[in-house]
Amino acid sequence: MERVLELAALDTFVVGLPVRRAHRWVGLDSPIGSGYVVTRARLADGSTGWGEAQVIKTWGGDDASRYGETPKTTVTIINDYLVPALKGVDARCFEAVHAAMNRTIRGYPYAKAAVEVALLDAVARGLGVPVYQLLGGRVRDRVELAHSIGLMEIDDAVAEAEQVVREGIATLKIKVGVDIERDVALVRAVRRAVGDAPRIRVDANQGYRSWREAVAAIGRMSEFGISYAEQPVDGVEAMAEVSARCGVPVMADESAWTERDVTRIAARGAAQYLSVYYTKPGGLWKAKRLLTVAGAFGMQCDINGSAEMGIGNAANLQLAAAAPEITLAGTIPVTSTAEVQRTKVAGRKYLDDIIGMPFEYEDGRLVVPRGPGLGIEVDEAKLRRYAVQP
Ligand SMILES: [Mg+2]
Repeated sequence: MERVLELAALDTFVVGLPVRRAHRWVGLDSPIGSGYVVTRARLADGSTGWGEAQVIKTWGGDDASRYGETPKTTVTIINDYLVPALKGVDARCFEAVHAAMNRTIRGYPYAKAAVEVALLDAVARGLGVPVYQLLGGRVRDRVELAHSIGLMEIDDAVAEAEQVVREGIATLKIKVGVDIERDVALVRAVRRAVGDAPRIRVDANQGYRSWREAVAAIGRMSEFGISYAEQPVDGVEAMAEVSARCGVPVMADESAWTERDVTRIAARGAAQYLSVYYTKPGGLWKAKRLLTVAGAFGMQCDINGSAEMGIGNAANLQLAAAAPEITLAGTIPVTSTAEVQRTKVAGRKYLDDIIGMPFEYEDGRLVVPRGPGLGIEVDEAKLRRYAVQP
């Protein structure tokens, strides 16, 4: 009989990276990339794999109902609950891995994602195949990017938009949801600066106080050509009111964590597009399942995230590589290291990273790595250098 391939050990690290600039959105009150959790799994056959959770305490879905996590809570959940729950579970049986984690503790999808990705990386490395092969195989070899312009002064936003368009970016994602006049002025200024060609999408991070305010804001921003509006308000019901009244598609992000969320959003007509990444559903396997549900409802999807570091970017690239439902340009950050700079500004969140060789960047797209596992190597000297206290 085939033997169970168990998790033998799992280490956690908390990492803080130097940022290119502060990145802000409505509701975020802590700096990105300071205190993200990294995991290293070792299986019984000696295979190792890496995972990452971008833990943000104010990131928690509609109605403040979903799981803000912190480095301390995530490390505790992993060490005290998830690792013990995986004893005797075959790491190659992804459904069983998720069932065991969900049986032992509800919620905490970022902690679960950090464990699951490390397991998939280890299993894929053991087999000598890329992770996308375990998710159904590759449907694309490049992933188109949007560049995220966080909350900032209008002049700074315009300068950044011009710079990233020069670096090949064809879609700009502008953070809004602060104040209608400010948001409209910003979208107008960016559109004037970059011309008609770049696509502009906006993300309010639930910032508008009512669906009426959101409808008014989107209507006015639409005069400057926006492709779609992401999560204008909190709550599926309010999102449905916005969707019913706006000419541009609405994308759900904070409202969409699970497969059941997707069916609820579709049933109410709350959004036409979905923002998907490996962490909200609790891992790559769950994200792939969620994408299948989205596809069944004809919803187009992108990959966004929470300012991932290199390991997290690798995981999202593997997901995008294997998911035909990912048809929209998403904000996967462009990893650079101190030694190898892929871009100056486009998609760039950090000045350095803990992975060795960053992903190739060409014409506004990231190239899916072809190596085994996540297709990256972690620089353990940098992991030590950037380790912080949780
Ligand atoms: Mg978003």
